[in-house]
Amino acid sequence: MHELGIMQNIVDTVQDYARKNNVSKVVKVMLEVGQVSGVVPESLEFCFEVCTKQTMLEGALLEIERIVAVGKCKTCEEGFDLLTHSFSCPRCGGTDWEMISGRELIIKELEVI
Ligand SMILES: [Zn+2]
Repeated sequence: MHELGIMQNIVDTVQDYARKNNVSKVVKVMLEVGQVSGVVPESLEFCFEVCTKQTMLEGALLEIERIVAVGKCKTCEEGFDLLTHSFSCPRCGGTDWEMISGRELIIKELEVI
């Protein structure tokens, strides 16, 4: 389960930030997780509980916002939902596209005391 390592990184990053900013407790962490980022939100939630034990994040709320995977067709420039359209352009049928969003795995916001 590689989510554990990912979550450990997130918790470390949050703790670094908290220390530098004289924060005593983190009460909420908001993440943006792309649909094709390769991580399972349910696993992240579980790992969050494990990784935050005995830290200033213990008991904090984890909010995960899913980011839809969007591609832009290189042939006709149509932007489309990759998963809904099975990775091919709904306008011209092209399969040559560039990824606009969907791979995110970022800390969007923190709520601290
Ligand atoms: Zn197209």
